[in-house]
Amino acid sequence: MAVIKANAYGHGICHVAKHSEFADAFAVARIEEALKLRASNVLKPILLLEGFNSPSDLQVLVTQNIQIVVHCEEQLLALEQAKLNMPIVVWLKIDSGMHRLGIHPNQYGDFITRLKACSNIAQPLYYMSHFSCADELDRSVTQNQLKLFLSLTHDCDGELSIAASAGLLAWKESYLDWVRPGLIMYGLSPFANSTGVDLGYRPVMTLKSLLISIRDIKTGDNVGYGEVWSSECYTKIGVVAIGYGDGYPRMTPAGTPVLLNGREVPIVGRVSMDMLTIDLGFSATDKVGDEVILWGQQLPVEKIARYIGTTAYELVSKLTSRVSMEYFK
Ligand SMILES: *Cc1c(COP(=O)(O)O)cnc(C)c1O
Repeated sequence: MAVIKANAYGHGICHVAKHSEFADAFAVARIEEALKLRASNVLKPILLLEGFNSPSDLQVLVTQNIQIVVHCEEQLLALEQAKLNMPIVVWLKIDSGMHRLGIHPNQYGDFITRLKACSNIAQPLYYMSHFSCADELDRSVTQNQLKLFLSLTHDCDGELSIAASAGLLAWKESYLDWVRPGLIMYGLSPFANSTGVDLGYRPVMTLKSLLISIRDIKTGDNVGYGEVWSSECYTKIGVVAIGYGDGYPRMTPAGTPVLLNGREVPIVGRVSMDMLTIDLGFSATDKVGDEVILWGQQLPVEKIARYIGTTAYELVSKLTSRVSMEYFK
């Protein structure tokens, strides 16, 4: 099940769906995402990972053949009270230790009885849970979550799913019937100490822009808003046409690299809405119009995320609609 929520982690949801022939189903987080896929003629099963928020959405979900997660009493009650013209496919989400969504293990028996008795729900049910620390290989919590999930569902008649990217890469015993990779499909690593490139994958996304201005500055000159950075030597400053209005974080610290003409060049000064500034060095020969790579195969987004104190998940999914996308085979 290919996870393509959040605009396919910033990669373009419809395009990714159309080029994921390997996927048996898709998963998204919002009904709008699911309906957008159906509207662009995606026919495979789609699972709404958090289920429905409003009972009035149930009829359109069933009509559009969208499967739902049921993770709480409110959703179950709404299903019991609904009048649907067709049964809907339900994934029962069990909280095996993450304590975010999912029924408590001691609600399991009651939920199963009611879900099976409900004529609005297709049978057999599907069963899922989610790991909280699958990216931490030295901890026992993942195995405990898996054990709990398997012991609850041991005599159920439906298919099971618990693994996302980190489970898929690190916990073979968690594969079960369905795996739900998101990040790794885009060639990125879910682990804090590696990149997708380290793991032998190729990042799908390259984020790039252009050098739009170059100026000489003297020792002690400030650059950018707030005068938060000043040069310790005579140097050249390059201005790159990308900023937080495109999704490149404003909190990026000085020293975070970009790639320009084959070398890493540090960002200096504050990232502004439409631009950021880089220290080219005194003897630079770069020219206005040169391509600047913010991240991609040669400069992993996981590395940039470490400078900024965030994850590749956040950086790629945060790109705004102002960034234009080009696709290559
Ligand atoms: C986002 C999500 C995934 C995919 O997670 P990755 O770490 O990106 O592979 C899988 N399952 C659920 C429930 C999710 O919310």
